[in-house]
Amino acid sequence: MSRANVGRIDAGLLDDLGRRVVEVARGLFENKLVVSTFGVVSTRIPNTDYVLITPSGFSKARLDKDNLIIVDLDANLVEGKFRPSVETPMHTHIHKRRPDLSTVIHTHSRMACAFAAANMDIPCVSAEQAFYLGGRVPLVRKYSLPGTNKPGELENIVRSLRDINVVLMRKHGVVVVGKTPEEALDTAIVVEDVATIAFHSIMLSKPREFTRKELNYLRDFKATRYGQKPSVS
Ligand SMILES: [Zn+2]
Repeated sequence: MSRANVGRIDAGLLDDLGRRVVEVARGLFENKLVVSTFGVVSTRIPNTDYVLITPSGFSKARLDKDNLIIVDLDANLVEGKFRPSVETPMHTHIHKRRPDLSTVIHTHSRMACAFAAANMDIPCVSAEQAFYLGGRVPLVRKYSLPGTNKPGELENIVRSLRDINVVLMRKHGVVVVGKTPEEALDTAIVVEDVATIAFHSIMLSKPREFTRKELNYLRDFKATRYGQKPSVS
């Protein structure tokens, strides 16, 4: 990757970030969250207004960090040999509006897409979903077609991400955000898992969703009793 226009970015940092984006993109493929050339990973380059993003039309299984592209927060190409993903305006809009995040991932994972195709939220019927995601996975209500760059629709996506790290795009796919590329991949994997559980539970019966009170209990449980405490030496 030429760095003529991004000379102030630390080369080591950019290489490391590129390696992590490629690993996460391969992780999407290996976990069957994307097939063929679908799916997009983008991550903010720290302390800049630039975003590293996967190119259009590349299989995530064969991606190399030299194929990645740098764009600015208005989705303009800054550096790279290939065209960026058609979903670049959505990614850069989220990065612009949510500087607290580092990474945006877009997948077409199968079970989550089934809910998106049916114009449904993913109901919160499993402890895994309640615990990890904190509630329903919302469907973005006003969203038209893949590749949209309509500011109102992009803002609807941002708005839907206010209380959760994942949303569904109508008849299309999944958008996951995270504080690191690895965290976003983990969430994308969990989303497909909980969508599968929800789908099957709906096939079997009429499952009851977690109540707000139960969700609050699980949130507090996660905050105070789950995982390892920092070691005291
Ligand atoms: Zn898509």
